[in-house]
Amino acid sequence: MASKCEENITLPDGRNVKTITSVVEANEKDVDIAVEAATKAFNEKWIHVNGQERGRLINKFADLLERDLDELAAIEALDNGKAYTIAKSEDLPFTITVFRYFAGWCDKIHGKVIETQGDKFCYTRHEPIGVCGAIIPWNYPLLMVAWKLGPALACGNTIVLKTSELTPLTALKVAALFKEAGFPKGVVNVLSGFGPTAGAAIASHMKIDKVAFTGSTTTGRSIMKAAADSNLKKVSLELGGKSPNIILADSDLEEAVKWAYQGIYANHGQCCCAGSRVYVEDSIYDNFVEKFKTYAQNIKVGDPFHKDTFQGPQISQRQFDRIMGYIEAGKKEGATLLLGGKRHGDKGFFVCPTIFTDVVKFYSKHIYSYELLYDFLLCNIFKNENMTIMQEEIFGPVVAIAKFKTIDEVIEKAHLTKYGLAAAVFTKDITRAIKISNALRAGTVWVNCYNVVNTNAPFGGFKESGFGRELGKYALELYTQVKTVQINL
Ligand code: NAD
Repeated sequence: MASKCEENITLPDGRNVKTITSVVEANEKDVDIAVEAATKAFNEKWIHVNGQERGRLINKFADLLERDLDELAAIEALDNGKAYTIAKSEDLPFTITVFRYFAGWCDKIHGKVIETQGDKFCYTRHEPIGVCGAIIPWNYPLLMVAWKLGPALACGNTIVLKTSELTPLTALKVAALFKEAGFPKGVVNVLSGFGPTAGAAIASHMKIDKVAFTGSTTTGRSIMKAAADSNLKKVSLELGGKSPNIILADSDLEEAVKWAYQGIYANHGQCCCAGSRVYVEDSIYDNFVEKFKTYAQNIKVGDPFHKDTFQGPQISQRQFDRIMGYIEAGKKEGATLLLGGKRHGDKGFFVCPTIFTDVVKFYSKHIYSYELLYDFLLCNIFKNENMTIMQEEIFGPVVAIAKFKTIDEVIEKAHLTKYGLAAAVFTKDITRAIKISNALRAGTVWVNCYNVVNTNAPFGGFKESGFGRELGKYALELYTQVKTVQINL
């Protein structure tokens, strides 16, 4: 539980900070206790609760989220640093919609009667998996709770949820609301803990039947290994991205700029599907860049509780340093820093909205070292856009803008990372929109918009952005297993 504890402390690096609260850190033993509670609740209570009743409980819980919307938005802003007005107008309503959507599915999950040869009667049942572990990141603390718990509970599973060590607060408040809504004890268990301890204990637990993870690709890999080395629990992974946003010359330029800006700067750039690589067709490139820069210059960065704030602080010192490291790499590798590239203000983890251009290395002459020769080969033969800022997920308000000449060229460039979470294309030509959307290897492609995530539609990654689809009917497949019953008549 969180406890109030306002005091000034000095960190080892000398910074003076104010603690707003402290939470108990869950360790491996706490995971065992939570798993035991979830197992008992699954076998003795939850399995006997029918779909209609599960739906009623989830809707009751959603009513409580609505009742406490203001308070939850404020906790979310404190927890994560996102703007209170955005938490209130976007994160909270989306969270509630997700729970209500899955409440609607509870009594509609059913199998089929299957025709077989002879006098056998065959049918299938879609049964819950059992105890599900959920490990979530810090960028959308409340929404990630909804994306995992909504479908898991609708399908009749019990849960052991571990929040990010950086954002434990809203989930603790939510745990109290589950209790108030009347969920049986042990159905939802929330732990605040660190990844290598509590997180790893969930991934390798012999009595957890499935683990649903959202976070970095590196951690996703270790979770899969842990699942394989323990009880082969089912795994679903929502991982990182480096999404391309393609702007064609025939697009509505004002609209393209507006969406591209949302695409990268929403949530301070801490968005798995952030459109961090913008490709603009040659003939409109200069115009686009100028307009985009004007938008970015006007972003209100600052106090999450100020009504005009669009961008609050980054989540942590580590993340701030990481972003600054990428900005330095961009400069060092020869990209042009068009805007930002530095701390906003003189304290806190605020980063100025940043734009890089000239982000593709080009060598045609002056190769005077083996290192440059290697780069040349990567760039020109393997067409690898090897600037670090074009390859790695920065997870901050930093965009790289590049030019292209032909559609085939930009599709090829779009594929030059290990990720495949999302992509976007802007054009008024529906034929080209469809051609490019079909060609892109990404779990979501937006046409003439960005970051539009719909509760009814699946969301998930291609390539190293993970597997499994959250949201929509597809999410039910992640939390059920199919049983075939054959009856000899
Ligand atoms: P992270 O991988 O460091 O941490 C995510 C969660 O995993 C945290 O709860 C953490 O405590 C836990 N964890 C860390 N090490 C672990 C281990 N060894 N075993 C088990 N659990 C462990 O990621 P993050 O920094 O919190 O989040 C940022 C990343 O998440 C970005 O790469 C981003 O793209 C990705 N992300 C993806 C989506 C998506 O839907 N695809 C959504 C949000 C964030």
